[in-house]
Amino acid sequence: MNIAFIAHDRKKEEIVNFAIAYEHVFEGNNLYSTGTTGQRIMDNTKLNIHRFLSGPLGGDQQIGALIAQNQMDLVIFLRDPLMAQPHEPDITALLRLCDVHGIPVATNVASAEIMARALDRGDLSWRELVELHRPRLDK
Ligand code: PGA
Repeated sequence: MNIAFIAHDRKKEEIVNFAIAYEHVFEGNNLYSTGTTGQRIMDNTKLNIHRFLSGPLGGDQQIGALIAQNQMDLVIFLRDPLMAQPHEPDITALLRLCDVHGIPVATNVASAEIMARALDRGDLSWRELVELHRPRLDK
């Protein structure tokens, strides 16, 4: 599974604690993140994460590009609902692409926990079947 982690600044501690709690579930998957989020998670776990640019510098858009190419299976995006972000258009675009392509996305830690437990049980393996039967995008 290809999984992306993104957390706004006031949510970084929460995503680190979440990654620690579910490290055993996420290890062995292909993990991606925006720049600072990934660094914080790697500093506190043994997870290996491919880090894109920081969100405000385009990291959300880089992850969005993978979603558009059907190369992302799950997105954990802990947004800060109480503070305006300078890259609000990128955030909206990322969430829109998740909806366009039917990608599971968790925007708070409660829903992220449900997804992590589903991943642990193998409930998300239907994503691999979708990929197998999906028409090629480059045709
Ligand atoms: P960051 O980006 O992980 O580089 O902080 C996340 C964001 O604020 O969108």
